[in-house]
Formats: sequence, C-alpha cells, structure tokens
Amino acid sequence: MDKRVILRSIPNMNELLEDEKIHKFQEQLGSEQLKKVIRNVLEQVRSEIIEEKTESVPDEKYLKERIRKQLEKLTEPDMKKVINATGTILHTNLGRAPISKEHIRQLLYMVSGYSNLEYDLEEGHRGERYSHFDELLCRLTGAEAAMAVNNNAAAVLLMLSALGREKEAIVSRGELVEIGGKFRIPDVMEQSGTILKEVGTTNKTHLEDYEKAISEETGMILKVHTSNYQIVGFTESVEMEHLALLGKKYGIPVLADLGSGVLLPMEAYGLPHEPTVQEMIQAGADLVSFSGDKLLGGPQAGMIVGRKKYMNILKKHPLTRALRIDKFTAAALELTLREYLNPENALRNLPALKMIAKTAEDTRKDANTLRQMLQEKKMPFEVSVEPCESQVGGGAFPTEHLQGYGVVLTSRQKKCQDIIDAMEHLPVPVICRCQKDQIILDVRTLEKEDMDMIVKELELL
Ligand SMILES: *Cc1c(COP(=O)(O)O)cnc(C)c1O
Repeated sequence: MDKRVILRSIPNMNELLEDEKIHKFQEQLGSEQLKKVIRNVLEQVRSEIIEEKTESVPDEKYLKERIRKQLEKLTEPDMKKVINATGTILHTNLGRAPISKEHIRQLLYMVSGYSNLEYDLEEGHRGERYSHFDELLCRLTGAEAAMAVNNNAAAVLLMLSALGREKEAIVSRGELVEIGGKFRIPDVMEQSGTILKEVGTTNKTHLEDYEKAISEETGMILKVHTSNYQIVGFTESVEMEHLALLGKKYGIPVLADLGSGVLLPMEAYGLPHEPTVQEMIQAGADLVSFSGDKLLGGPQAGMIVGRKKYMNILKKHPLTRALRIDKFTAAALELTLREYLNPENALRNLPALKMIAKTAEDTRKDANTLRQMLQEKKMPFEVSVEPCESQVGGGAFPTEHLQGYGVVLTSRQKKCQDIIDAMEHLPVPVICRCQKDQIILDVRTLEKEDMDMIVKELELL
C-alpha cells in the first residue's frame, strides 16, 4: 500500500482524545501532558511506517491500547509494593525493615497536618526534633544523651567531622569495613577531614597497638563493628571495655559504629551474640551509632547515643542541619522505640523482629497453609513444602541462616528464571529465588495477606 495512504489513515489527535479510555486521563494529567503522550505515540507510529517496519494501516484498537499503556505508566506510581518471598528479612533492595500497618496508621495521623515536631508544648517555645525520642533512647540504652540523623552512614560522618577534624582517629586494621553502597570507613574518614591511623593487623589487634598509637595528634579511638563479614581462625580484637579505659586514661573519646544496633539479645533465635547498644554504653563507649532500619526494625535513620558533652558538640555542628531527619522518620522512630519498653511488644509489633523470631515450626505451619491454598486452585505447578534457609540481611549475621520452611513450585514447562521474571511482572510483584532449579517461596518474610495475594496472582501466570 502507498505509504501516504497509510499515514493519512492514522487517527488524528482529536479522534483519539475522544476515546473514553484515553480521555479519562485528562483529569490527572491535564490536557498538555495528555496531548504530549498521544503526539509521541503518533510520531513513533509514523516513523515506523516510514522506516517500513509496518506495512499496513495500524489497527486503531492497537494504537489506542499503545497510548493507554503509556498513559498508565505515567500516572501509576513507579515505586510500588512488592511481596518479599526471598526470606531475607532486612533486604536492602526491598526497603530493609518493614513498618507495621498500625504504626503507619498512627504516623499518618501525626504527620498529615501540623505537629509539634520542633515545638515544646509545655514551655511554649521552639523545641528539638529529637525530643520525641531522645529520652526513650536513653532509657533503653542507658546513655546520657541521644540524637538521630538521616542514616548510620550520616551518623558516622557527623561523629568524625565534629570530633576528629584534622586529628587522628585510631582504627584497627581488622575493622576498616566497606559496607554496601560505597560506604568505606577510610573514605568517610577522608571526607570528614579525619586522619586515619591504622593499628594492628587484619586478623589481630591488641590493646597495646592502640596505646602505642596515641599521641598529641589523636582525636579519637573508633571501633567499627564488622557486621557484614567475619574473620575466622587466629583472630583477636580489643573489647570496648578495655578501649574505654584506655580512652579515659588519655582523655580521648572512644566511639563505636555498631552498624545494626540491636537492643534485644538475639541468642534466643539461634543467632550468635551480637553486641547490643546497651552493652556498648555499659562498657564505657563515649558515643555509639547504629542504624534505624536494620535490627532495630524501624525507619531509615542513624541513631547516636552516649555522653552529653560530646552530643552537645554534635548538635552544634553545621552538618547536623544537613543530615537531619524528617518528620515521618521522627514519628516512626518514636513509635518503634516505644515498643521496646516491653520487649514482648517489640517482638510482636515490629515486623522484622517478628520474622526473626519465627521458629522453624511456625514457618512449617505457614508453608503448609500456603501450599494448601495453592493446591485448591488449579495451578500449572506442582506444589510442596520443603526446608529452606532464610537470612537476616542488611549486613547482619552474614554467615548465619535461620532454619525454616518454604513452598516449592515445580513446573515441567517453564524454566526457573522465566517464572521468576513472570512473578516480578505481576501487578504486585513477587520477589523470590531459585533453590536447586525450583522456585522457593520462603514464608518467613510473608504476612497472611501476602499469601492471599500470591494465590490470587499466581492464577494470572
Ligand atoms: C550498615 C552499616 C552502616 C551504614 O548504616 P546505614 O544506616 O545503612 O547508613 C555503617 N556502619 C556499619 C558497620 C554498618 O553495618
């Protein structure tokens, strides 16, 4: 067919705008953006015809469908809920610690209008945004003072910048950590203007290594928790207790970047001992920093707890303003920390802790429930329950696994990776993994409503 005839047969803007399913986007997009999308698709179609990718008159239905798809993409939120069936609880790519629905409900009420974020209602004047949780943090950790910034990386940067600028910070060679996302202790030191003074060796550092490094130039001793790796075998590091005494002897602040920041002992869940924030304070650390969305199970934030005299220096530092937390975080942190007043509430109401605390038997029950629900529908899979191992994630307990059960899907027709891809493209994407060439849905990270959704959605596959 003659190209000009084909080109002329394409519906024009006005005809397309009259289509009900296209027109309904006008409200959300306004006519300018709406026309822009249509024009764009029309141009694409025209150039396809000219470049001879299309030989015939484009089907009108197909054209409208193509426009609608573009419009949907533009109007739907790009960030969406996903179902985490990987079993990795603090999955950094999936937003780390999940926040409970009840907390979100309360949080919405607090932040949707105005709040006393920085207003002291009792005194009737300006207040501090930390005031809503600093006493709680002190009560829970035994520290004298507390504050919070954007994340733990920010907390470490602030501590170093405020206390170590143009001075030396003594760090063990075994603790020069790189965590994900380009956060390396030596780089953060450089950024903060602190001079790194490495001591000891990769596997062994002794108290006297620290003491020998102390000079007029020393600004601090920093202990970094090696949260995401383990040096095994012939190793030695110096406990906070001894470092704190050393710091005291020479009048040097001793700081700890604890990473995860647990407030409850994790041994009860088959995990090795992870130093708690309270233990660090008890041992004499002057300042301790830790994350809000790792094992604490709250929003992204970086907590700093410790001695008042150092906290006051941090609070006055210009970086504090740049790194400050927002009102959502302040509200969510308060709600999270309040749960810890009674540890049973923390374990019941903070989703991440609840998932860690699930026993193998709990997960077996859940896996059986999901298996049954799936078997009641006609699915193109064979469904069974099998043991699997979950991970805490977020760089915590890198070598440990939580034993549990998951639902295994086996398909004769489809390859594992193809099913994973298809599940990631569902309306509520399901993220899962392959185990021995089979799909495994680890129920440890699933809520009851996630299971309902999985059953509903797998029918679409
Ligand atoms: C995770 C971690 C950090 C960074 O914490 P974010 O809250 O992710 O910024 C810093 N130090 C250590 C040791 C960590 O494990």
